Amino acid sequence: LASNELQHTPTVIDIGGVKIGGEEIVVMAGPCAIENEKDFVDTAISVKNSGAKILRGGAFKPRSSPYAFQGLEEDGLKIMVAGREATGLKMVTEVVDTRDVELVNKYTDIFQIGARNMQNFRLLSEVGMTRKPVLLKRGLSATIEEWLMAAEYIIAEGNHEVILCERGIRTFETITRNTLDLSAIPAIKDVSHLPVVVDPSHATGNWKYVPALAKGAIATGADGLIIEVHPNPPCALCDGPQSLRPERFKSLMDELRLVAQAV
Ligand code: PEP
Ligand code: MN
Repeated sequence: LASNELQHTPTVIDIGGVKIGGEEIVVMAGPCAIENEKDFVDTAISVKNSGAKILRGGAFKPRSSPYAFQGLEEDGLKIMVAGREATGLKMVTEVVDTRDVELVNKYTDIFQIGARNMQNFRLLSEVGMTRKPVLLKRGLSATIEEWLMAAEYIIAEGNHEVILCERGIRTFETITRNTLDLSAIPAIKDVSHLPVVVDPSHATGNWKYVPALAKGAIATGADGLIIEVHPNPPCALCDGPQSLRPERFKSLMDELRLVAQAV
């Protein structure tokens, strides 16, 4: 169902007028984790003014360490809704457990399935039973085939609105957090009708490399980007080193418009 053998035209996902997979590049932006209402709403207003269409933020944080900040859970979702109401942006947030799908579904416009859960098949089926779009991140060491099969689990339940998200894969390299697989974009476009977005923040782990890879992603055919933005990265509770300050995000958006025009 994810393959273009049966469906020849690209899937365009329409989230209340924001179309992913169509003509326009859609940018999702916001902090890694929702920390407090003031910072979140300020960041939301700022990324909206810079041209983002979708707000990102984590309320359930799957951290590598069980002792790290795990997210504000439902309080975080409520803050996210405040950000959406203040800006009119749509929202995407991660769900990490089948038990939370119903709760997250009450708030979000798009479910995010994180890299660590790409092969959590029960979770995939559960979001497949909803009628909300799903941003499916590529697993840390998943092949493109495995990733498309994960998408298949969602679509098989009747939910056709899957957005694939390349966020870098594990390689022997250590200078960057992960290795962004830009070749996955044209390779997927070759075999699937699903839209593909790129997450240069988790791919690099370093804000300095984010603009270059964001531009590379547009140039190689991505339908959109998801970028971490934080008002004060050194104090971020999660992923500060890879977060852009709002001003840098704004200038990146201007650069991206030029790249999008050129391709
Ligand atoms: C995130 O988007 O904050 C996140 C945890 O990403 P990933 O699942 O790609 O590591
Ligand atoms: Mn993050």
